Amino acid sequence: MLRIENLQASIEDSPILKGLNLAMEPGEVHAIMGPNGSGKSTLSKVLAGDEGYTVTGGKVEFDGQDLFAMEPEERARSGLFMGFQYPVEIPGVSNSYFLKAALNAARRARGEEEIDPVSFLKLVRERAQWVGLDDSLLKRAVNSGFSGGEKKRNEIFHLTVLEPKLAILDETDSGLDIDALKAVAEGVNRMRSEQRSFLLITHYQRLLSYIEPDYVHVMVNGRIVRSGGKELAQELEDSGYSLFEDEEAA
Ligand code: ADP
Ligand code: MG
Ligand code: MG
Repeated sequence: MLRIENLQASIEDSPILKGLNLAMEPGEVHAIMGPNGSGKSTLSKVLAGDEGYTVTGGKVEFDGQDLFAMEPEERARSGLFMGFQYPVEIPGVSNSYFLKAALNAARRARGEEEIDPVSFLKLVRERAQWVGLDDSLLKRAVNSGFSGGEKKRNEIFHLTVLEPKLAILDETDSGLDIDALKAVAEGVNRMRSEQRSFLLITHYQRLLSYIEPDYVHVMVNGRIVRSGGKELAQELEDSGYSLFEDEEAA
């Protein structure tokens, strides 16, 4: 599903990712944990194709294709879903209009017909319920004036409607109260399948007690420095990141 080899990337000539390796198979849930400033958001933005970042080395394969040869829109149409730490607001475009356009672009890319209005309405109502998103937020402009929790629920709502092959969620848990956190986890858990993979990027262990990852990776200073099973998340919660930071420095 995803193969990252020796990835190096810079922001304004400062190297941030310094030889990152990661491989994910279909159906797997991986978590990347790491201290602030270790490059977690940089990784998600580089994979999304954000122009503010320069890839200076390495390669990434997504579903058998060279990711960096694909335009950002093409990545999305091909089934890569990105959820960001700070979801963007799109004034003037209603949430449901935006979602329908994105869904139809993905369907066309798969050689399927556009969804009919009745099925679309049924789908969005069902999925909004999964994540506890209020129906009124469907008509509002995307994320405009949404609270932090509503933005994150909306992000997962989009995920459940778009049914991507790979979802990368950056700090989806940050700033969420426990109800919103459970709603987000519910959305992700309902979408888990043998074909779909998730990469959860998080600073805290909290989300991982609701979404059980198959693998946990520790990221420090632009690299994965340790990988293990879900027990690694608990170990980090107990010991903190300093152990890994010291190892990295040594
Ligand atoms: P994380 O998500 O793990 O907290 P980030 O990927 O956001 O880390 O940041 C990694 C490093 O890149 C940090 O040292 C941060 O200060 C730096 N950085 C992020 N964005 C910029 C930017 N626009 N210009 C310069 N440095 C940046
Ligand atoms: Mg940060
Ligand atoms: Mg971040």
